[in-house]
Amino acid sequence: MEFGDRERGSMDAPQAAGVSLARLLGVIVFAAACLGFHWFGSQGWVPLLDSANLAFHEAGHPLVDLFSARLSVYGGTLLQLLFPALALWNYRRAGNATGLAGCMVWLGENLLNVARYMADARAQALPLVGGGEHDWTEIFNRWGVLHLDTRIAGMTHGIGVLLIVGAGVWLYRCRRSGPIAHPGSH
Ligand SMILES: [Zn+2]
Repeated sequence: MEFGDRERGSMDAPQAAGVSLARLLGVIVFAAACLGFHWFGSQGWVPLLDSANLAFHEAGHPLVDLFSARLSVYGGTLLQLLFPALALWNYRRAGNATGLAGCMVWLGENLLNVARYMADARAQALPLVGGGEHDWTEIFNRWGVLHLDTRIAGMTHGIGVLLIVGAGVWLYRCRRSGPIAHPGSH
């Protein structure tokens, strides 16, 4: 029943042939681990991955500061989201469905990480690297929405979860139906 579909799909679409069951399971385990650490971990922190995200974040501030001191507060979040977005774009161009789904999970997990920081804007309970200013207290203050910090964080968290769950569902469908989808290209 399923096997005929899969074989036909893989012959018609070389990209989909790359989505083996092992790769699909790998992405699903990755997605589940990200959600699990955020929802059930005491810190809401994914080991290794969030350390990498933090490294990109910390590099982002001085990088943007080269162009504008006022905008440097946005640089951390910008760079930590830019890296998975660029990787995602690269896999999409290459027609690598597994890599694309993995980057969707990474991007979504980054949003969970950003949301955790956003939600702390008023409380300021999180330990900050370097003990500098709190990005989101500053940003939300500039926008006049500091009182909405937890609500904005909740929406950001929701988008992150959608991306993470969506990546697994999309890859599952990709494996069944064959060619890699190009949303918006028609
Ligand atoms: Zn920062």
